[in-house]
Amino acid sequence: MSVFTFVCVDTSRAMSNLGHMNEVVAMESAGNYGASVAVHGTPVVNGLAYGPVIRPAPSPEFDIDAGAVVAEADREAEAKRFAAAATTVADRFTARASSSTGSSAEVLAATASLAKDRAWIGTANTLIADGTPAAAATVAAIDKIAEMFTKLGGLMAERVTDLKDIRDRVVAEILGLPEPGIPNPDEPSILCADDLAPADTAGLDPARVIALATRLGGPSSHTAIIARQLGIPCVVAIAELDRIPTGGTAFVDGERGVVGLDPDVEEVAAAVAKAREAAAAASAWKGPGQTSDGHRVLILANVADGPSARAAAEPGVLEGVGLFRTELAFLDRGDEPSVDEQTALYRAVIDAFDGDKVVIRTLDAGSDKPLKFVNHPDEANPAMGVRGNRIATPHPEIRIHQLDAIAAAAAAATAAPWVMAPMIATVAEAREFAALVRERGLVPGVMVEVPSAAVQADQILAEVDFVSVGTNDLTQYTMAADRMSPELAALTDPWQPAVLALIERVGAAGTAQDKPVGVCGEAAADPLLACVLVGLGVTSLSSAPAAAPAVGLKLGSVTLDQCRAAARAAVAADSAAGARDAARAVLG
Ligand code: PEP
Ligand code: MG
Repeated sequence: MSVFTFVCVDTSRAMSNLGHMNEVVAMESAGNYGASVAVHGTPVVNGLAYGPVIRPAPSPEFDIDAGAVVAEADREAEAKRFAAAATTVADRFTARASSSTGSSAEVLAATASLAKDRAWIGTANTLIADGTPAAAATVAAIDKIAEMFTKLGGLMAERVTDLKDIRDRVVAEILGLPEPGIPNPDEPSILCADDLAPADTAGLDPARVIALATRLGGPSSHTAIIARQLGIPCVVAIAELDRIPTGGTAFVDGERGVVGLDPDVEEVAAAVAKAREAAAAASAWKGPGQTSDGHRVLILANVADGPSARAAAEPGVLEGVGLFRTELAFLDRGDEPSVDEQTALYRAVIDAFDGDKVVIRTLDAGSDKPLKFVNHPDEANPAMGVRGNRIATPHPEIRIHQLDAIAAAAAAATAAPWVMAPMIATVAEAREFAALVRERGLVPGVMVEVPSAAVQADQILAEVDFVSVGTNDLTQYTMAADRMSPELAALTDPWQPAVLALIERVGAAGTAQDKPVGVCGEAAADPLLACVLVGLGVTSLSSAPAAAPAVGLKLGSVTLDQCRAAARAAVAADSAAGARDAARAVLG
């Protein structure tokens, strides 16, 4: 295989993909490999990939004749044409969802239900009944809803990409055009795009699309989440991505956030050779998590349900679950799941890691994860609104039912699960939650996602048995920057020294009280940052399972003193980039 056609480097895939043609290896070298053009963005999944650039097929082009009116006699047929196209598109999403697993399946199923959503279909049907042609009615109906979602912000705004994707597919179907979206390349390729529709990223074949680079999207966007799951290098928020032409040959450096055009083949090949060695080592990493001088750190999995927990447990490397996002199982539910139903779900995850640590988070409903069965107040700023544990004030019974279900699921377990609440802001909230959890014989903890909780980590830890730092939200709230905003990706970077300083405070509180301090945000998936977190006093790292071996491997290559020195240097830096560089200088 020529290095011209394919080079991919990514420690995060090593465990599951060694031997696969899309070989995954760790990237050590820095540099632009003599590229003629290099553009920069926010790195989200480590690795180096090299190949021809492809872009999604454009949306169908057609003229909307504002004055066009379908004759009354033809309107029924027009409505049928529309219904057939909308159903075909929704069915395709459903079929792709059922042939996918994990978060890909969830994303596709969510898009399928959006494609069937009565709100936009009803609007389109009304327009068609008034004489608007089916394609124009589709565009008008979806654009109207998209505008509404954009105004709502947060997750709703994130779904605009899905909506537009549905619109383009339905219009193409109505007009008899080929389905828009990502081409199926003959050779392993770099996919560049403005932003990727979750439906497209979920269907990606990592043997064909070996890296992602987007002009928009943030570190927690769908693109980033799916890239992490697939284990392919990914850089987002690249303002100048248009300078990398389709058909050109480029590399994507997912560690430094660089995309370069026409790199020097020999230089890239050298980087790959070096990286292959590291990848082989990552694939051989079998735990347990510890520094080279034997300081133990639990390396855990973030999971969403029984199947994802079983998949995480299967290789026998990870030591438990650091974050079970329970709300993800109920995103499409119109009614509250019964206690029995919840019990079965929680038991599936506990059983997958029976005897090991399993940290279950109570529903983090609201903001970017609205649940239909929780009546959310209309809020101008939902990220700062009634979300997470705050939902228990208007709906105390929902939290009680969930804790009862967790206790029932725990009844047959070898070890009591740990239960933590999201979005805790005060000591009183932590105290109240801990009492409810203890009453049920479970181990209470809280997430540190709000800066106030980090500032008061001492008092909060006195109330609970453990804390877990949610770096995604802690970064969002510390930097006052929406985690979904592509424009603010540089601010929503967990390497921001202010964020690290808050984690330092939490780590010190944990050390002083000899209580566990975990990290379960995306920061725990970054091998270099993971070492810094350990240096700050963090005792467990929980991430997407695919990212864990690279983290474990890196940690095993440095001493605790090095982690501490890197942590001091990163906290003292004056920028996120400075913190990365300072840590790299110590940790290699
Ligand atoms: C976090 O905020 O870092 C976190 C782990 O929670 P979520 O990403 O689910 O909000
Ligand atoms: Mg969070």
